[in-house]
Order: sequence, then C-alpha cells, then structure tokens
Amino acid sequence: MIFIDSEQKLWGMDQLLRDAARRSLEYLRKASDRPVCPPEAALRRLDELDPKLPDDPTPAAETLRLIDDFASPATVTTTGPRYFGFVVGGALPVSVAAHWLATAWDQNVGMAVMSPSASRLEQVAGAWLLDLLGLPPTSACGFVTGTTTAHITALAAARHAVLARAGWDVERRGLNGAPPVQIVGSREIHSSLYRALAVLGLGRDGVTHVDVDSQGRLRPDRLPPLRAPAIVVAQAGNVNTGAFDPIDELCAAAAEAGAWVHVDGAFGLWAAAAPSTRRLVAGLAGADSWATDGHKWLNVPYDSGVAIVRDPAAVRAAMAMSASYLVRGQQDGMEFTPELSRRARGVDVWAALRTLGRSGVADLIERSCAFARRFAEQLSAAGAEILNDVVLNQVLVSFGSDERTRRTVEGIQKEGTCWCGTTEWQGRVAMRISVSGWNTTADDVNRSVAAMLRVWSKTVL
Ligand SMILES: *Cc1c(COP(=O)(O)O)cnc(C)c1O
Repeated sequence: MIFIDSEQKLWGMDQLLRDAARRSLEYLRKASDRPVCPPEAALRRLDELDPKLPDDPTPAAETLRLIDDFASPATVTTTGPRYFGFVVGGALPVSVAAHWLATAWDQNVGMAVMSPSASRLEQVAGAWLLDLLGLPPTSACGFVTGTTTAHITALAAARHAVLARAGWDVERRGLNGAPPVQIVGSREIHSSLYRALAVLGLGRDGVTHVDVDSQGRLRPDRLPPLRAPAIVVAQAGNVNTGAFDPIDELCAAAAEAGAWVHVDGAFGLWAAAAPSTRRLVAGLAGADSWATDGHKWLNVPYDSGVAIVRDPAAVRAAMAMSASYLVRGQQDGMEFTPELSRRARGVDVWAALRTLGRSGVADLIERSCAFARRFAEQLSAAGAEILNDVVLNQVLVSFGSDERTRRTVEGIQKEGTCWCGTTEWQGRVAMRISVSGWNTTADDVNRSVAAMLRVWSKTVL
C-alpha cells in the first residue's frame, strides 16, 4: 500500500519534511549569489515537469526532487536582496518558518470552531496591525490574498454602507435600479482598484477622475462636489513615485458629504509605522477602509493582504452568509473576507510582527527608504536623471532617451546582478526601483548601482 506506509507512517513524512527543509535552506543560501533572473537553459528544463499525467503513483520523495531539480533553478530570485522589480518583498525567516508550521496544521480559519489557535493569532495580528498603523482599534481586519482582494472586500463594505444610507439594500436587491454611486479618485489610482470596481458592478468607467500634480498626488483643489451615495478612493503610495494623496483633505471633504473614503495603501500604508515617514499619511485614521499587503513591505510569504474596515458591521453585511451546518463564533474569519475556507494567513503576519516589534518594523521601512535615496544619489551623481521626489522606497530613473532607458533596463535584467522593471512616467520611459526586501544591504545597493552603470555605458544606440 503506497499511501500509508506502515513502517514510516504517512509515506515518510519525517524524511520528506526534512528533505524539504534541506532543499529550502540550500535554495535560500544561494539566493543572494545566483543571477536574479533564471538562465534560458533553466527555463527550457521546465518542460521536464510537463509529462503526461502518470497512471501510477510516484514516491513522494521523488516528486519533491523533481520540483527542486527542475523548478527551483527557474525561479526568479525575488526573495534575494537585489530584486527591485514591481513592489515585491522577500520573506522574513520567521515568517517562512511560521508559514511551514501553519501548513502542517492545515487549519481552516474561516470559522473559529475549526481552529481556535489560528483564529486567535489572526485576531491578535489584526489588533497589532491597527495599533502599528494608527488605525481605529475596533476596525475589522480580513486576511485576504492581497491588496486587490482587500479592495474588493473593503469596497463591498463601502457599497453596502453608502447604499444602505440611501435606503437601498444592495446585498438583497443587487445594483439593478440602485441609486448611482459617485466614485471619485485621481487619474493615478492603481489598476487593481478598477478591477475591484468592475467585479463589484460599480464599473471601471464609473470613476470621476481628479487631476494630479507632478508627483501623481491628487490635487484637492480639483475635487468635484461630492454627492452621497459616494466613495472616494485615495492612494497612499503611488506605485511609480511612492507619493501620497492628501488623505486628510480628502477625508474632510468626504465627511461633509457623507462619502466613504477607501485608501489603497498596498505598500504605502506602512509609512504610518515609522516615525520619519508618518507625516506622509496625515489624516489616515479618518478614512473608512484601508487595503494593504503583508507580502510586500512586511516581508511575509505570498499570499498576504489585509482588508481593514472601520465599521465591522458594514463588512459583515457585505460578506454575510449562513447555513444550518455552520457553527458561528463571536468573530469568525469568514465574516471579514470573501472566502469561507481559507488558510491561516494571519499566522505569518503574527510571526513577523511578534519578531520585529514596533522598532523592527520602523527600521525595515526606514532602511528601505534610505536605500532608495542611496540609489537616487549614486545614480544621479553618475549622470542619470531621477524623475521623482524620493519620499519613500520608489525611484524612477531615466538613462537618457526612452529607447536608451528601455535598452539599458533590458541589459540590466539580463546581466543578472539585480532586477528592475520599466514604467512610463508622465510620458517618459523610466526604470523603476522599489526597495522592499528585509535582506537588502548597502553593499547590495552599491553592487546594483555598479552593474546598472556598467550596462548603461555599454548601451549605445
Ligand atoms: C501591489 C499593489 C496593488 C495590488 O496588490 P496585490 O497584492 O498584488 O493584489 C494595489 N495597489 C498598489 C499601490 C500596489 O502597489
């Protein structure tokens, strides 16, 4: 009998997990030295993972070996110290370890009756987050897959609340015939918000756009009159420049009109957790909902996002479900997220926060910002142009013409010391540097700058 080995029990669980630990350690040990981008040969070998579905069982140890032999070499080393693409954090060792342990528990955190311990860890992690970010302590925290899902969750609560105030029960009646909801946000709101609005039936095209300044901040002098039912979306951390909308002014205008304010703070919300950046999010606690990621700046493993809603009743109403077999507790995870069954994501967040403490989180944020400034200073000193005010962890770099910038970035990606992507900022092509990893050091920044300059000097059109 292959499935339960009577000698070793559970097909060699002991050996299998030790083997996984050994392989993981080997991978992580090499993570700071291997090329950030996988070589072509490694990508070609991925075909080995794609045979016909076998008719017969394979020993589990062999399965693990196949994954490690063929998939590990073709990973992008986003967890290493010189990955500056998109906004991608690494994973703190303790959060990886806690993630493993929670996977061994295999708890379903949808209802506390299925997992008292994981539910408790999530509740505590949520309370710690609210404390750390300076948000109202009685807010609801839903541990979701990322900021996109956090938007869907929080904006569903917003949709419920603003329509309930207009006398419309959207959960019961849907949007057909509902009073139109005014949605206001800057031209620079993140694409994930459009997706959330589309999913919720509020429509991508439903956004009234407000002009922005040179850093991509919403201009409050251009705000249209707000009329309830209304939702204002604010950006805490522009995905290109790292700039912040004037949240205090938006909250004041919204309060007057009875509008709901939702803040996209996928990474920028963490500015609230460090003394030197806190001023960027002035007025943050005056909003109604916030979306952020754990897998970006907090450096917990994928996937991890949090939907925070000031009025727990609003998100409970938006996510309500019941069935006779469901055993409901005081505060079940399923009330605050779109899922019923779900892994215990909050455990990783609890582990990261318990280990870092308040000062450790502040240090992580401030260190990343300091490294972003270091990038900007060194690149600028070498003649590159920095296109944004570096207020957070994001740097936009031009290496001359659009074509030369594009070619230089391609060269940097191929060279392998580090990885940065491109973007377009106010009509110009730019390289985007995002410093979000816990393990990046000053030496990593120096090495990366040296590689960038080497490639740039060789990129002549
Ligand atoms: C990354 C990001 C998102 C989307 O977050 P996911 O976790 O990928 O769903 C939304 N807004 C901003 C500003 C982001 O940086």
